[in-house]
Amino acid sequence: MATNLSADLNADYVVVGAGSAGCVVASRLAETGASVVLLEAGGPDRHPMIHIPAGMRSLLRHPRLNWNYHSEPEPGTANRPLHWPRGKVLGGSSSINGMLYVRGNAADYDGWAQLGCRGWTYDEVLPFFMQSESYTGGDDRVRGRSGPLKVEDYRTVLPLTHNFVEAAQQAGFPFNPDLNGAAQDGVGYSQMTRRGRLRGSTARTYLAEARHRPNLRVVTDAMATGLLTEGKRCTGVAFRQGEAARTVKANREVIVSGGTINSPHLLHVSGIGPAEHLKSIGVPVVHDLAGVGRNLIDHYVVRVVHRVRDRISINQLARGFRLAREVVRFAVTGRGALTFGVTTAQVFTMSREGLASPDLQLLFTPASYDPTRMLSILDKEPGMTAVVCPVRPSSRGTIMAASPDPLAPPAIRPNYLSASDDIRVLAAGLRHVRRIFAAPALAEVSVAELRPGPDIESDASVEAYARREGTTLYHPVGTCKMGVDPMAVVDPRLRVHGMAGLRVVDASVMPTLTTGNTNVPTIMIAEKAAQMIREDWAA
Ligand SMILES: Cc1cc2nc3c(=O)[nH]c(=O)nc-3n(C[C@H](O)[C@H](O)[C@H](O)COP(=O)(O)OP(=O)(O)OC[C@H]3O[C@@H](n4cnc5c(N)ncnc54)[C@H](O)[C@@H]3O)c2cc1C
Repeated sequence: MATNLSADLNADYVVVGAGSAGCVVASRLAETGASVVLLEAGGPDRHPMIHIPAGMRSLLRHPRLNWNYHSEPEPGTANRPLHWPRGKVLGGSSSINGMLYVRGNAADYDGWAQLGCRGWTYDEVLPFFMQSESYTGGDDRVRGRSGPLKVEDYRTVLPLTHNFVEAAQQAGFPFNPDLNGAAQDGVGYSQMTRRGRLRGSTARTYLAEARHRPNLRVVTDAMATGLLTEGKRCTGVAFRQGEAARTVKANREVIVSGGTINSPHLLHVSGIGPAEHLKSIGVPVVHDLAGVGRNLIDHYVVRVVHRVRDRISINQLARGFRLAREVVRFAVTGRGALTFGVTTAQVFTMSREGLASPDLQLLFTPASYDPTRMLSILDKEPGMTAVVCPVRPSSRGTIMAASPDPLAPPAIRPNYLSASDDIRVLAAGLRHVRRIFAAPALAEVSVAELRPGPDIESDASVEAYARREGTTLYHPVGTCKMGVDPMAVVDPRLRVHGMAGLRVVDASVMPTLTTGNTNVPTIMIAEKAAQMIREDWAA
């Protein structure tokens, strides 16, 4: 979008998107005394279900707090469009996510450095993980004690979760007391981004600590509709607030933190992206950049569900008098089922011998639910679920603007299971889960495997099940990938290649997926980005 600036706002830094990354970048930059405007398309995070951890289920399809995207029907999913929730509220997806705290594997970051991302080895990113968090467990050498992000263990652990952890050890997986410590392999209990009894989104941690600063201005219900450019320099942002069209000028730079879907989309509608595609949808080309919207990577998972006997699962706690008791317990003690996220224990392991680091994450939930509707509908009977997640998939997809209209959703084509190795890893993960469920500590409480069911054994039937019932674990990354190759969108300091005054800082810059969930790696990226921005302007 060409500029003719009579901006009604201006700031040294303009950050687009107050999500996991945007809240961190804006807060850290405001600490320097520079003026910062943070634009967020959603509204304030007042809805009580955002803050009660178990309220997450009601946010998955919330019409106002969620972008509610859908992927295109594709062969990978037997032509099913998949629902892709994303937070549209202060805190972004950190306000609606499962709160699982997973840093990933040291090899992920060493791998980024190998791909040309100088400065991103594990040793170089570890300080940013540490400065972001505040956790009391684990080893002082790798865990942070005084960062804004509160990290806690589960306050209440159902016996069924202990059964899983014991069964996994019986099946040969070693116990790991801290899955975010020096080593990731093995079985362990989950940690959560929770502060006391309440969710610890980046809005309620980082941003809450910074909002008193007069040099930080947070503008909600402000949908960025285009980047303002003068030649190859980004000078500001156009946005809509209600019916009003407004602009904000950036004295130093614009930082796009709209997430893996919206960041490449905003670049596209602003004329930055693959020229051929932009022309085909009628967007004037400002800067031809082939990789914008490509390299989409996501975690595609299948579930193994068992009916349970002689144990309480969340299914019973979520209804009738037990639910009433849990509500009182939460209010009085801050404990119990309302403080739960989704996954209470996990295994990190390998699909075959000889790998240097885990390529599988097995996530345990002491509950069962309709897998086609994710966690929204719990079964009436008690149950337990293990999710099989190939954590380093080879399939790659795209997110492309479908029209020049910044308010129209882009086309999401994840291309799931297009790489045959992803199917092999899924099948291996399913075998691991079945070994765990067959181990004595879980066999004694299992009635039967409901899904996929004993008939699904051969690789071909596993593949058909995966295409029919598999789903996203909500971890799309990579559409503005960092690197130095021709498909890279940002350089290792997260500056958009070929443009001045413009960075992308969010999950979209990851060149590959991390071994696990993506919230905390995104927060680490934002911490490191803030430091790089400070350094670049001090130089
Ligand atoms: C349902 C769900 C469950 C998840 N569970 C977990 C989990 O348990 N653990 C974990 O580690 N990860 C989890 N994740 C993934 C994790 O939350 C994301 O990877 C992470 O939040 C991504 O951060 P981000 O900053 O890239 O994007 P987001 O946090 O999505 O932030 C983007 C922000 O930008 C705003 N925005 C977008 N476009 C514009 C625009 N044009 N103008 C203004 N504002 C704009 C959005 O409204 C949003 O607030 C989950 C995700 C979802 C959706």
